Amino acid sequence: MIQNFTLHTHTIGFDGRDSATEMVAVARSMGFKTIGISNHFIVHPDIQRSKLYGVAMAKGYASIYANCFEQAIEKFKSHYAELDRLQQENPDIKILRGMEVDYFHTNQWRDGFSAAHQILKPDYIIGASHFVEYNDFICNVHDMASVDPKTCDKMLVQYWKNIQNMAESNMFNWIAHLDLPRKRGLGTHKKWHGIQEEVVATIADKRTPVEINTGGYGIDLKQPYPCDNIQKMLAMYHVPVLLSDDAHNIAQIGRHFDTAECQASNNGIKNFVSLQKILDFRGKKL
Ligand SMILES: [Zn+2]
Ligand SMILES: [Zn+2]
Repeated sequence: MIQNFTLHTHTIGFDGRDSATEMVAVARSMGFKTIGISNHFIVHPDIQRSKLYGVAMAKGYASIYANCFEQAIEKFKSHYAELDRLQQENPDIKILRGMEVDYFHTNQWRDGFSAAHQILKPDYIIGASHFVEYNDFICNVHDMASVDPKTCDKMLVQYWKNIQNMAESNMFNWIAHLDLPRKRGLGTHKKWHGIQEEVVATIADKRTPVEINTGGYGIDLKQPYPCDNIQKMLAMYHVPVLLSDDAHNIAQIGRHFDTAECQASNNGIKNFVSLQKILDFRGKKL
């Protein structure tokens, strides 16, 4: 096995399908020495106005969206207490307390998140941008796919700006699924290469690691996030890289790690980051 840790996973109670106990047992049986659980930490005052909130309600995981920090903190307190118990019961595998955090570029959000970080003391935080603020609206990739091309392009610019701001914040251990809008076939035209390279240069400047998210192989994309082209940029700028399975159930743990490593190497990526380095990178500005 190339990478003996898996840090990007989701469990039941959030939007995962299996319990932390089941995830840990499967990770161990597959030979992983460390598993981190990184459920969503998504806080925005208008989040319940986003279209995805209705979808999440119907599917029963609306509780991953909080409109205030107190709400998210309470949920994570009991979740982390469960992970602590699990670690005591399973001394032979390291269990880390992570979170996948949606970044919003406002002082209010940063202050709120810094306070939450002080209280919860996660082992690591993954920076993600599932949502962007556009005009007076919180939109995600599905919203982008359902508007006219011009508006969609403006939303995509916001998306990449948000990733750049996230990198500049220096708050995160690494950045998740860099070209997520590809999920809906968006942002793949070569006209986006310029802004993508600009963002990769910022990420490199901050020495922030980036994940290769193997969830992309699952759908008909045949490529992880990010795609070959962006992976080549990561290689050129020597950005540290790790593999993430983004497992939402036990069957997805460690999925396509071999393929992803092979593909990354073919794209010139050599800088696979160690677990210790990732954990040490933690929240310099927090
Ligand atoms: Zn995500
Ligand atoms: Zn995730």
